[in-house]
Amino acid sequence: MPSLTPTDLNQIRDQLNRRLQALRGEVHAAHLARQAADLPDTREVGDRKDEAARHQFDDLDDAQEQRDLDELAGVMAALQRLDAGSYGECLDCGEPIPAPRLRVQPSAPRCAPCQTAHEAAAERAH
Ligand SMILES: [Zn+2]
Repeated sequence: MPSLTPTDLNQIRDQLNRRLQALRGEVHAAHLARQAADLPDTREVGDRKDEAARHQFDDLDDAQEQRDLDELAGVMAALQRLDAGSYGECLDCGEPIPAPRLRVQPSAPRCAPCQTAHEAAAERAH
């Protein structure tokens, strides 16, 4: 772990843990909101206005929830890498991720060039 000091790693672990708590809260809240929104549906079938409104709410909610879940997975993976001692190594090329990048984005799993290539590949896959 070349460019990160133990102090850096402690700070990063704190940051990741705080983010993890916040995301868990958000995902939980979204889940509860969804349950509440779904309740009327079990009794009243065929109210189109409600149906449309609920659908819109669901779409917005889904996108946000998916982002939260993606970030949550990233944060948890970063904490696992911290525990395993492989934190800060790029998943794709195995090179150390520059410390400034990790300070800005502690859950970053890849160095900048690999992340760009990864995102370009994901775009093409769509
Ligand atoms: Zn890389």
